[in-house]
Amino acid sequence: MIDEKLKSELETILGKGHVSLSKMDLEAYAFVQGTGADIIGHKLADVVVLPANALEVSEVVKLANRYKLPVVPQGARTNSCGMNVAHKGGIVMDMSRLNQEMSIDEDNMVVVADAGCSVYWVMRELDKKGLRFPFMPLYTPGPQIGSAVACNVTGNYMTRYGSMGDNIVGLEVVMPTGEIITFGPGAMDTGWGHYQRYVGGPDLIGLFVNASGAMGIVTKVAVRIKPKVEHEKILCYGWKREHAKELTEAMYGMQRRFVYDFFLINKWNYHSAEVQGKIALPDDVHFIAMVSVDGASEIELNLEVERIVKIAEDNKAIDLADLGILTMGAPHYRIWLSVSKWMQRIEATYFWCPVKKFPEIYDIWEDVTRKYNFWDGEHCPAWFSFHGRNTCNPYPMLAKANPTDPHELEQMKLWWDELNIKLCAAGCVQYNLGDAFPDQNYEVLGEQWNLTRKIKKFLDPNMIMNPSRTYGGL
Ligand SMILES: Cc1cc2nc3c(=O)[nH]c(=O)nc-3n(C[C@H](O)[C@H](O)[C@H](O)COP(=O)(O)OP(=O)(O)OC[C@H]3O[C@@H](n4cnc5c(N)ncnc54)[C@H](O)[C@@H]3O)c2cc1C
Repeated sequence: MIDEKLKSELETILGKGHVSLSKMDLEAYAFVQGTGADIIGHKLADVVVLPANALEVSEVVKLANRYKLPVVPQGARTNSCGMNVAHKGGIVMDMSRLNQEMSIDEDNMVVVADAGCSVYWVMRELDKKGLRFPFMPLYTPGPQIGSAVACNVTGNYMTRYGSMGDNIVGLEVVMPTGEIITFGPGAMDTGWGHYQRYVGGPDLIGLFVNASGAMGIVTKVAVRIKPKVEHEKILCYGWKREHAKELTEAMYGMQRRFVYDFFLINKWNYHSAEVQGKIALPDDVHFIAMVSVDGASEIELNLEVERIVKIAEDNKAIDLADLGILTMGAPHYRIWLSVSKWMQRIEATYFWCPVKKFPEIYDIWEDVTRKYNFWDGEHCPAWFSFHGRNTCNPYPMLAKANPTDPHELEQMKLWWDELNIKLCAAGCVQYNLGDAFPDQNYEVLGEQWNLTRKIKKFLDPNMIMNPSRTYGGL
């Protein structure tokens, strides 16, 4: 509990307007989006703080250690694994005031941004200069770049360049004991003037990527950027449900050609658009892939397009022509419009699986979803997956507008649990870990997970930094 003495110590660090114990504020910060929060339940912090810089973050963390109070960093509270929930009360730290500095270094092709900067805003600033992140999360304006590191966000275009974690070249972090440490020389203008993730010794940046804030609070990020592609074509292909194996062959063929992006969805993503008469999918199309091909010139692009078309034709693809542009064109957000009617209530899970397992994994997804009677337009069981070189990162999702039936809500949770357990048993691993997931999700990681927890204990002896069942011990 927070007493007057602790409150005044926090106010001395942060200023009066940046510490709140008001019930209304605590309720507002307990409202986090998604399945994780639903499963963990409604948890209130004891206090909300809004630091403005790394020094203030550090002072608050040192104080929290003295009082043994949990600290939960929060960005826009949109992640659905449940690690943004104040599981054990304590301090919720809203990172949104750390958004003062963002610089684009065009010589070194790196953007350096305070952790609270919105990813969307950074993307827009890059866009004005003809630049972009190598990958492209499907973001709304809220989510922040610090939490994008903490969640290792993925998105379109990760086929060639990987996820957020693969593109980080420097970090500034407030450790669980309060020290501020910069990782990667020069990334934060404190070192040798160059950006290099790998310095003498092991790669420590990785400790904070996908750690959901449990290893420390990210306060500044340096990420690689790229020029926008000048010559690009988005191809769009469909496959019948019974041709999942041929689709997998096509994925391998196209990834070997190093396509810029291979993005796969199922027909339910188009359901709303079809009902509204905006799009007509051929009846037998079940899978839809958007393939982004690029080249240094029009001639090079056309040659590459020819090769990709051949791979598609050899593997029973149905050409869907401009559908890709309609739904995944320049703004890259339009696909969401087509499912928007169903977006009011979402249960989703996120994981990695080997590309070669795609048909088996998809069968499991369909079987479990049918078992609960959710394989219909009413529940819009949308699948989408971003593809890396040899893995895919799928998001099976159930979306429904305004479910009111408590039985149905309960069934959606059972669906979620069963799907997670079966997918892990089939060789998938969760890409974000959080208390919402069944134990099997950690157990599949074996000794790696045991080591992660030992490192956590070592870095955070008082176990205050985003403490949870996940990192604290099953
Ligand atoms: C419409 C929509 C589209 C999405 N699209 C994608 C997508 O394309 N790709 C994708 O990967 N994900 C996507 N997501 C999910 C995504 O993982 C989260 O939205 C995002 O990463 C979380 O950012 P946030 O600012 O909301 O962080 P929060 O949800 O507030 O926090 C997420 C986690 O990060 C921790 N954290 C927050 N800030 C920090 C910090 N500074 N340092 C350390 N830890 C911190 C929190 O404690 C928590 O564990 C999407 C979500 C939505 C709603």
